[in-house]
Amino acid sequence: AGMRPEPYLDGLNPAQREAVETMDGPVLMLAGAGTGKTKALTCRIAHLMTTGRAQLNEVLAVTFTNKAAREMKDRIGALLGGSIEGMPWLGTFHSVCVKLLRRHAELVGLKTSFTILDTDDQIRLLKQLILAANMDEKRWPARMLAGLIDGWKNKALTPDRVTGGETAAFDHRGSELYAQYQERLRTLNAVDFGDLLLHMVTIFQKYPDVLERYQRWFKYILVDEYQDTNVAQYLWLRLLAQGHKNICCVGDDDQSIYGWRGAEVGNILRFERDFAGAKVIRLEQNYRSTEHILAAASKLISGNEGRLGKTLWTEAQGGEKLRLIGHWDGEEEARWIGEEVEALSRGTRGMAPYGLESQAILVRASHQMRAFEDRFLTIGMPYRVIGGPRFYERMEIRDAMAYFRLAISPEDDLAFERVINTPKRGLGDKAQQKIQIEARENGVSLVEGARLLLAQGGISGKGAGQLRAFVANVDRWNAVVRAASPAAARSPAEDDDELFEVLDDAVPPANDHSHLRLAEEILEDSGYVAMWQNDKTPEAPGRLENLKELIKALEQFENLQGFLEHVALIMDNESKDSEAKVTLMTLHGAKGLEFPVVFLPGWEDGLFPSQRSMDESGMKGLEEERRLGYVGITRAEEVCYVSFAGNRRVYGQWQSQMPSRFIDELPPEHVDVMTPPGLNGGGYGSGYGQSTLGSQIDARAASADVYNSPGWKRLQTRGVQSQTPSRPRAVTVENEFDVGDRVFHKKFGYGEVMGTEADKLVVEFDKAGTKKLIASFVVPADT
Ligand code: ATP
Ligand code: MG
Repeated sequence: AGMRPEPYLDGLNPAQREAVETMDGPVLMLAGAGTGKTKALTCRIAHLMTTGRAQLNEVLAVTFTNKAAREMKDRIGALLGGSIEGMPWLGTFHSVCVKLLRRHAELVGLKTSFTILDTDDQIRLLKQLILAANMDEKRWPARMLAGLIDGWKNKALTPDRVTGGETAAFDHRGSELYAQYQERLRTLNAVDFGDLLLHMVTIFQKYPDVLERYQRWFKYILVDEYQDTNVAQYLWLRLLAQGHKNICCVGDDDQSIYGWRGAEVGNILRFERDFAGAKVIRLEQNYRSTEHILAAASKLISGNEGRLGKTLWTEAQGGEKLRLIGHWDGEEEARWIGEEVEALSRGTRGMAPYGLESQAILVRASHQMRAFEDRFLTIGMPYRVIGGPRFYERMEIRDAMAYFRLAISPEDDLAFERVINTPKRGLGDKAQQKIQIEARENGVSLVEGARLLLAQGGISGKGAGQLRAFVANVDRWNAVVRAASPAAARSPAEDDDELFEVLDDAVPPANDHSHLRLAEEILEDSGYVAMWQNDKTPEAPGRLENLKELIKALEQFENLQGFLEHVALIMDNESKDSEAKVTLMTLHGAKGLEFPVVFLPGWEDGLFPSQRSMDESGMKGLEEERRLGYVGITRAEEVCYVSFAGNRRVYGQWQSQMPSRFIDELPPEHVDVMTPPGLNGGGYGSGYGQSTLGSQIDARAASADVYNSPGWKRLQTRGVQSQTPSRPRAVTVENEFDVGDRVFHKKFGYGEVMGTEADKLVVEFDKAGTKKLIASFVVPADT
């Protein structure tokens, strides 16, 4: 009989096999999460090779991220038994298009050496055009125009094709400015990101001979995550596929999560129309997740309207229910997840151990990562951040910290170099060189060198004014730092009232947060915040969020120095590369991936679903958020945690959070409600779970403060009834209290210990409400 040449076919179900073996003609694989779409796509490429249908370089395969492309390459290599070298046309839309455009740049008036503009330049260019058009840049900001142009490019609209209502945009000047912008780019021999696809579509439409060459060349075209393609990408694909018509797209309308970037889920529906006779294959067996996880995800997504609709089933019956847990605040949530990850990795949760590499925390917004990173660094848990650097390695965080360093010590030359021209101050390489020389010749720091240079008039023009302002700013910040430090060094106050140091929820003590104000001032005065506010890239809002998160992180420190030291120390804690690590990433980045254990924190209205989606009229935004929830839950193979916090701290203020409306939509019969830490140590599906999902919902409805809501109280009572003797200790600096202990405080009277917050005790007083205070100032109130 001999060896089968196609061992990979054995591992496929009949529908997948059909998708792999139907090599001629258009194929659309439309199926839910975890049904083996990507697997089938990968096998299809291997199959094309083994059957000699095509060479590796005749296959065009588009994935959504570079990571996905790399993984696919590896998997194909494995299927073919060895690593593969040449698959030049496997990559993201952008990476493939850059390659093509380099070959044909002259057709759109560019040289092969064209540059891809960074957004700073892009905004500056647009600003010039707006001013030249005599428009008020305040009313008509460059950022807005940039967003508009991006949107048009996503729809493959060149300036002359912007018609109808769209021409009214930007004071009826939008399309005209768009045309000027494209012209300027051409003279600069530059493109922006949107141009990569737009130019290729233009070339294919205008030069049929070029198009034909590629139509012939690409014998097979494959697209993963097809539901997230935008119109320009779709047109580009359609043009290329008109040759051999061997195009295979796989997607899931329920996982379309890039609508905000112009993705059109309607592309799936158009496929059947545009490619007559397309074979549509549906996969229904989910191979990834257990029954409860799949059921929870299916129920959640069923809340969306106008779905294509799919049935999903799994052989993996039983298993763990989805685990839902509420926390006091965001820090508590991070602490708890850290402990849970560790416990799971040791196998102390009554299950086989799950190594760190098999666990992932998926957040809605990247600024949520900071709390986890701090926690993990503190307890020495190795972690990796996918789809971006770790929090303190992010560009905006490093920039901000360089400013702080400069404020503390103006002679920090490295910091000076990092931020002197960020944001752009007209102090380019030449000006910086002059400063360097001046400093070196006089044996002084760069900031002193700059001062000398200014005094001599050694620097002229706009840069001089900007440099003067910069140096003056540094001096002023430094003066504030120095003025504050004696106060910070002051010995603890003798004053009785201050000893009690009650941190009232709403009003943080003024002196405690002066460094926060300074930090904010530094970022404002330097123009750094404005730089990101004026930036129109999709990442810019995230960067601003990260800066806010940075300020939040400062709260736990006395001053800027203390904070910088902390960061320096924890960053030293670098984990080795070979080590197993827990994964931290955004929901958007997790598309297509899978993990045995998934944590989904921050399910709170305003965070997830995002505030923006809730403010929008109509359901579009909310539906996209719901799909994001579906993507999140369906990443989990065996264990999935959803959590929320009742409070989050924003600028020293507590903000009450409502559990996410999506929590109400989860099916109670597939969810275990875990008791919050500190109430009874956390119960695992101990029989009272099912019926208390309703009380979670009560909690949501009744009050934003989950701990004070009737639902929460009920949970608490149930928690006490089920016998879990080992309540966690609320360990504080001087005292130990158990959660639930009755205590007495001189000023506030009787209360009950709810938990801890940093080194403070959180007490809910019968009369005075919830307070955080130093443990030594309460005494046990023994009956
Ligand atoms: P997503 O929608 O999340 O991208 P997907 O449909 O692309 O999911 P895959 O990632 O290809 O799904 O597959 C999910 C899991 O199921 C993978 O671990 C894969 O190896 C496994 N799998 C797929 N098909 C089969 C099969 N026929 N037999 C056994 N396991 C399979
Ligand atoms: Mg996939």
